[in-house]
Amino acid sequence: MDFPRASLVSAVTPIEHLPRLSDELGISLHIKRDDLAGTTMGGNKSRQLEYYLGAAQQARAQTVLITGAVQSNFVRTAAASAAKLGMKTIVQLEDRVPLTDALYGANGNVLLSRLLGAEVMRYPVGEDEAGADAALRARAAEEEEAGRTPYVIPLALGNAPLGALGYMRAAEEILSQDDGFDVVVVASGSGLTHAGLLHGLRQAGHRARVIGSCVRRDAKQQHERMRQVRDALAKMTGTATIQNEDIIIWDGALAPGYGQLGPAAAQAMAMMAQTEGIILDPVYTAKVFAAVPALVARGDIRAGERVLFVHTGGLASLFAYQSALENAFPHPET
Ligand SMILES: *Cc1c(COP(=O)(O)O)cnc(C)c1O
Repeated sequence: MDFPRASLVSAVTPIEHLPRLSDELGISLHIKRDDLAGTTMGGNKSRQLEYYLGAAQQARAQTVLITGAVQSNFVRTAAASAAKLGMKTIVQLEDRVPLTDALYGANGNVLLSRLLGAEVMRYPVGEDEAGADAALRARAAEEEEAGRTPYVIPLALGNAPLGALGYMRAAEEILSQDDGFDVVVVASGSGLTHAGLLHGLRQAGHRARVIGSCVRRDAKQQHERMRQVRDALAKMTGTATIQNEDIIIWDGALAPGYGQLGPAAAQAMAMMAQTEGIILDPVYTAKVFAAVPALVARGDIRAGERVLFVHTGGLASLFAYQSALENAFPHPET
């Protein structure tokens, strides 16, 4: 297996013990600080981009094109990482989230993408991955006509899941730091982080239960997607390590839907912030961490187990969610 990789995550991200939350939950809880991975507020997409931008460099691309939700961390991290490697970025923002306030449309990741010099285009549909990719490819063709070599980072299933390689690598990194976890809790959106981590752990013979927490689709849809990602990853790497029963999905904090903060996620954010001083983001990591107290309460995570929660970043979107956060955490004047 030999995939070109651009070096974007220069340091091993820490695994920290969370003693106060551990006491509260009756487990041994640790956090993998992948919110610190890579440049410009980092996150899991930095690890995925090492392989996409490695391929872009190999293709001698001058322009990188990428699509995502309006507050996508992926497009912002791509804009930052491509700038660092001397490439231009075109980001396509899809109307995927029914939030219309001005901050959502302009602050957070949108502001940063502009500051990073990305060209921003819009796509009016949020649940049409093939259509979003086609629009990106049409824009790439224009770049080519203008004499610039484009590289498209596709969204839909059916493309080589290069991003998952970043989390196979992260699995090795985690095992080199601490190989004693019973449970790993991670986001399951595109599924590349979840599948990469699971593939990497199983390939190393590690049997930790990996729980993917839904941020985009319900458990049934995500199960189906994960099997497809698993198969694509096996095909790409030439090794099949993930069994059906390895795919564990929880969707208890997904409501009211992608990119919208519900009560379970808000409670998880408050718990992490007020007990450990660590901020989670409203779109992804709050919904992921919510799985930990919920599964402890249900007995799926047992007393005393060693649990690793993977913080995949996303903090740049926080300030675009001001109104949702103010509603979730009313702050009466005193
Ligand atoms: C994109 C993203 C995820 C989900 O990762 P996938 O690989 O798409 O499943 C989780 N957390 C954050 C902060 C993200 O930006």
